[in-house]
Amino acid sequence: MKISVLGSTGSIGTSALDVISNLKNYTVVGLSANNNKTLLNKQINKFKPKYVAVGSSELKDISLIKEADLVLIAVVGFAGLIPLINAIKLKKRIALANKEALVIAGDLINKLIRKYPAEIIPVDSEHSAIFQCINGNNPEEISKIILTASGGPFRNYPYKKLSKVCVNDVLKHPTWKMGKKITVDSATMINKGFEVIEAHYLFGVPYDKIEVVIHPQSIVHSGVEFTDGSIIAQLGRTDMRLPIQYALTYPERVQSTVKKLNLTEVGKLEFFKLSAKNFPCFELAMSAAKISGSMLTVLNAANEVAVMKFLDNKISFIKIPKLIEKAMKKHKVIKNPDLEDIIEVDSETRKYVEEIAR
Ligand code: MG
Repeated sequence: MKISVLGSTGSIGTSALDVISNLKNYTVVGLSANNNKTLLNKQINKFKPKYVAVGSSELKDISLIKEADLVLIAVVGFAGLIPLINAIKLKKRIALANKEALVIAGDLINKLIRKYPAEIIPVDSEHSAIFQCINGNNPEEISKIILTASGGPFRNYPYKKLSKVCVNDVLKHPTWKMGKKITVDSATMINKGFEVIEAHYLFGVPYDKIEVVIHPQSIVHSGVEFTDGSIIAQLGRTDMRLPIQYALTYPERVQSTVKKLNLTEVGKLEFFKLSAKNFPCFELAMSAAKISGSMLTVLNAANEVAVMKFLDNKISFIKIPKLIEKAMKKHKVIKNPDLEDIIEVDSETRKYVEEIAR
């Protein structure tokens, strides 16, 4: 199996290369990184890929994925959109870790998948779980998707206290070790909003049949309720190497180096209703989802800019939803945006949020 790993120096990319080095008969033919050249050089020496790309413009070059049987897209944010479209047009099997592309352009991507056709295997732990639960069942018999959420570090914070949190508080996620952007997205819970949208587009389930449930232990990665009332859920350790490996070896399962889950050590599993009042970003994501069209591009672009500003200590944590809300209010929705519309709305939104954040 020949693999291209796009975004190889990030959190998912490095875990994926760790998984690949333990798999038999897998070779890396392409690697791409944004700017971590030191790590990329180490990876080149170890995996000897035929094609390497650095930076977001080289990422769009199709030679990087042309020879691959499988393309792992682990690029963060909007930058993942064009490589995803390229991989679909080349009819590849795609292991998708980038959720933003589906948020920004879900309808467009689904149209392309039907046209070419290509195949997407989700890497996001919740969506990998849902994919595994649906496997072998009739998708028409799904009555509900149950998307679990740890609730992040601020689940029990009073809203007042949120105005004082700093970057370090946010980067301490209780259960998962992840990249910086997604850790902030998890703390605001816009990540869970993105994941509802991602599930809607991946599995064709309407929004009113996707329920978010707080599950602080993060052991149940998600579940599916069927028409007879049975719930099938997937459980596992909070280690991204598991969903990554499943996406790479699907439909087979092979031995993993991750320590097996011991249920008696876990002891208890808790589930709570999501109280959205601490999480305005989640609410904004859900309202953008209902409006859909180009509003979803605005949601993502405004969030990407706001999160970078927060990580650079330029704005406070509670300013993130305020900037997104302003950008959404200003936007005139395009119902069925094409790729050009999406690119334009993305760059206009970025400019606007940069301006109002000053
Ligand atoms: Mg997830």
